[in-house]
Amino acid sequence: MAEQTAEKCYEVLDGRDVLRPFRDKFLIPRGSDGQEVIYFAGNSLGLQPKSVKSRIEQELEDWEKFAVEGHTKAKNPWMPYHEFLTTQTAEITGALPEEVVNMNSLTANLHFMFVSFYRPEKKKRKILIEAMSFPSDYYAVESQIRFHGLDPAECIIEARPRSGEHCIRTEDIEEMISVHGDEIALVWLGGVNYYTGQAFDMERITRAAHAKGITAGFDLAHAAGNLRLKLHEWDVDFAVWCNYKYLNGGPGAIGGCYVNKRFHNDRELPKFLGWWGHDKSTRFLMGHKFEPILTAESWQVSNPPIFQLASLKASLDIFAEAGMDRIREKSVAMTSYLHHLINDRLAGKVEIITPEQIEERGCQLSLKISGNGKEIFSKLIERNVICDWREPDVIRVAPVPLYNTFGDVYRFSEILSGLVEESGG
Ligand SMILES: *Cc1c(COP(=O)(O)O)cnc(C)c1O
Repeated sequence: MAEQTAEKCYEVLDGRDVLRPFRDKFLIPRGSDGQEVIYFAGNSLGLQPKSVKSRIEQELEDWEKFAVEGHTKAKNPWMPYHEFLTTQTAEITGALPEEVVNMNSLTANLHFMFVSFYRPEKKKRKILIEAMSFPSDYYAVESQIRFHGLDPAECIIEARPRSGEHCIRTEDIEEMISVHGDEIALVWLGGVNYYTGQAFDMERITRAAHAKGITAGFDLAHAAGNLRLKLHEWDVDFAVWCNYKYLNGGPGAIGGCYVNKRFHNDRELPKFLGWWGHDKSTRFLMGHKFEPILTAESWQVSNPPIFQLASLKASLDIFAEAGMDRIREKSVAMTSYLHHLINDRLAGKVEIITPEQIEERGCQLSLKISGNGKEIFSKLIERNVICDWREPDVIRVAPVPLYNTFGDVYRFSEILSGLVEESGG
């Protein structure tokens, strides 16, 4: 009985959860049995806010009603539409409003940022990355190095976990920066590694990089909307992220970008230009002399996709209402609960490779199941648990504070335990 009370504490936790009403703002998919699925894939594609539809319909209506004049006459005029997202984006990333802009998509923004911030000179030309970086990031880094006529084999240096460990120690990154600093032009890491779920200490890494005259940039695909970020305070130089994971902007959503204020007035910085980066007051004089907007917006090249901004805006409104502090607080509680349940029931059978320290992880736990992990993953999907499999041997699960419940976490642990037992694990 005592055990049952301990396990059923999810009812108490859900009862006390101040973010509980936010689940009703999202559309939760249903399985073949008609029941709502346990959706633990918000780190891959966030769920659709119910308010997205009316946001997009508004723009369809205004396009119908005003056509080209919608740029100024739409209810939410298209000309400044991206500005309606600025304050909320800055709040989520801990940036100044002038330091952020939503534009393009993640990998495209990575390339645009590297044009400005990867500036190899003589001996100082290497890029420090994670050994298990996301493929798209790796391809981008490799191609940027080649673009400068350099050899990736010589210019990429990789931080990796110590033997027998899964995650990279911050002190080892600092050590690499200190030892190889004179040859490193740029440190480029994920804020949270997509595979292990490890959150990096961006403040410490940025400080170590700056001490050696190195630029520090981060890919926040798995960090934005997940961790409490303070990009400005940490003095991060630049960052990019996607808005379709924790930020629920929808499949292929418009990307996000941060550029430290220090660079806004730097006219020496190489930059790929377009008209949407040009000073707004004179943009339509159609001259040929580029006058930059003195904010991160000067990195914009094109006029942005309004439907994409509309769906993202619906989600940012929800984030603003919930507040990142409360979101993070619930996330810590939920993922710690999941950690506890798995270790309690499945120690020795399921290994959690995500760090146990709260500051070193976000929502996600990465589970390594010896032998038949892939089979167990398929059975989870059959049981309407939506999570994902990443080769070679990891199941990623991410309870998301805006729409998951402690009950989801409990039921997941029940199902997983049953499957592991069944398979003789
Ligand atoms: C999701 C993700 C991407 C995806 O890139 P897109 O350009 O949005 O397709 C890239 N890098 C990381 C680290 C990711 O997690």
